[in-house]
Amino acid sequence: MSDDEAVEEYLFKIVIIGDSAVGKSNLLSRYARNEFNAHSKATIGVEFQTQSVEIDGKEVKAQIWDTAGQERFRAVTSAYYRGAFGALLVYDISRRATFDNVARWLDELNSHSDTTVARMLVGNKCDLENIREVTLEEGKSLAEAEGLFFIETSALDSTNVRTAFEIVIREIYNNVSRRVL
Ligand code: GDP
Repeated sequence: MSDDEAVEEYLFKIVIIGDSAVGKSNLLSRYARNEFNAHSKATIGVEFQTQSVEIDGKEVKAQIWDTAGQERFRAVTSAYYRGAFGALLVYDISRRATFDNVARWLDELNSHSDTTVARMLVGNKCDLENIREVTLEEGKSLAEAEGLFFIETSALDSTNVRTAFEIVIREIYNNVSRRVL
């Protein structure tokens, strides 16, 4: 056996959902490549990035999927959700409508997955404090009511981006190891 084969490996799919322009792609590019794009790309399709995290001495890989524009047409397909172990549901703290739509995204997620999927509510663009429309408390209490993790992030200045993804990855790992044991 080679050294590579001796290392225990896990690979989990995570999806990012939420309204258009809340910052889904930038959260992923900030996390995976430490990049931020001020101008939205218009590619349509599905894109994913794979990131590795070490937990308990094991290599845990997350394959993180971005809708890449599908949501503009309300056409996020069931294939997108299939096999997901975790989800980041993103809104923009400076646009209340994106927060109001969280319930719709949650319904869609619930209809495509079971309750074991690790879910994180993400209030992105927290750098835009001066034009904030959704308070931190509103985000927190919605998350509490729905049984979601909660965090505010900024893909622009990197606040909490790594933490957001890694809380979800750790939760998936913990869920899976509990089931295996
Ligand atoms: P998506 O459609 O949800 O994937 O959103 P994008 O990642 O394409 O971002 C939409 C727009 O919001 C772009 O102009 C980004 O530059 C901007 N944006 C994304 N994240 C942030 C953030 O954390 N802070 C600020 N101020 N702008 C952001």
